[in-house]
Amino acid sequence: MAIERTLSIIKPDATEGNHIGDILGMVEKAGLKIIAMKMMHLSQAQAEAFYAVHAERPFFGELTEFMRRSPVVVSVLEGENAVATYREVMGATNPANADEGTIRKAFAKDVGENSVHGSDSQENAAIEIAFFFPASQLPCAPLFHGARRARRPPGVAAQLGGRAGPAHADGPGGPRPPHRLAAGPAASP
Ligand code: ADP
Ligand code: MG
Repeated sequence: MAIERTLSIIKPDATEGNHIGDILGMVEKAGLKIIAMKMMHLSQAQAEAFYAVHAERPFFGELTEFMRRSPVVVSVLEGENAVATYREVMGATNPANADEGTIRKAFAKDVGENSVHGSDSQENAAIEIAFFFPASQLPCAPLFHGARRARRPPGVAAQLGGRAGPAHADGPGGPRPPHRLAAGPAASP
């Protein structure tokens, strides 16, 4: 299955209710990796722009007012089938219809104040991620999913005291190098 990215927003009702940690825990237990995250207070203009697709719906005013009521936690999730996986973890839009074990079943108040947003397609995920995160704030994919860690050439390892091994900060080889965002298929010889 493909490694995808999706955008998550923990909405104001959930941040007000101190459910950020519980929700992020459910995300991680589902096998999704949080690869970028920030807490922010949306402006009215940002809320309207993000939900522009619903501008004609009768609940648009209520929705945008709700989304700017308190801070939200915006994150990018990465994993196998991430868009559909996260929609499953979220549960149905209306918590009355949400399955047991889903975020909305556990925390949502009603169809409007329903605790989380998740992208509904890969195409929209790309648009929504770009809305909140410039490419420079995102790691190059895939970071976590079976990718082999880069190893330093022996000469570089020797200069660093002979420590060969992973180049990432959580390995014995020292600090993690900057992401090489420009690197991709086009950069291959
Ligand atoms: P989802 O968030 O599950 O993708 P939609 O894209 O249909 O659902 O709607 C976007 C958001 O608009 C919902 O999550 C909810 O906050 C709000 N919303 C949807 N339907 C209603 C409604 N009937 N009344 C009030 N708010 C609604
Ligand atoms: Mg939607």
